Amino acid sequence: MRLVTGLHPQFLWLNYICAVISTDIIIIGAGPTGLFAVFEAGLLKMRCHLIDSLAQAGGQLSEIYPKKPIYDIPGFPSILAGELVDNLM
Ligand SMILES: Cc1cc2nc3c(=O)[nH]c(=O)nc-3n(C[C@H](O)[C@H](O)[C@H](O)COP(=O)(O)OP(=O)(O)OC[C@H]3O[C@@H](n4cnc5c(N)ncnc54)[C@H](O)[C@@H]3O)c2cc1C
Repeated sequence: MRLVTGLHPQFLWLNYICAVISTDIIIIGAGPTGLFAVFEAGLLKMRCHLIDSLAQAGGQLSEIYPKKPIYDIPGFPSILAGELVDNLM
């Protein structure tokens, strides 16, 4: 278990979670940034847990605009936000 040091008191509960769940990293927020962080952690063979207050992953893409086409993702001339989340999962 790795204790997270220097935490703001508001986030001290993270150490409790680290003690209950054996993991290398806890990522808060399952938006595209968090999902990409999970991917990178996997490349480094680190175990991680992803926490989000919403019922589904994807952050703003799933919650606000799943049917909106996005044009600025490298490798995709156009992709719906919901499809991008599916790919990241
Ligand atoms: C209408 C609209 C259209 C957009 N169109 C584009 C576009 O075409 N192209 C583009 O590149 N960008 C676009 N964006 C911006 C893009 O959506 C954001 O840049 C992107 O979602 C940021 O990703 P993120 O993972 O950092 O954060 P978010 O998507 O905001 O995800 C953060 C996640 O963290 C969770 N969270 C936050 N705090 C906590 C907490 N304390 N505990 C638990 N969970 C927590 C939230 O529930 C959320 O799921 C658009 C944004 C909007 C609103």
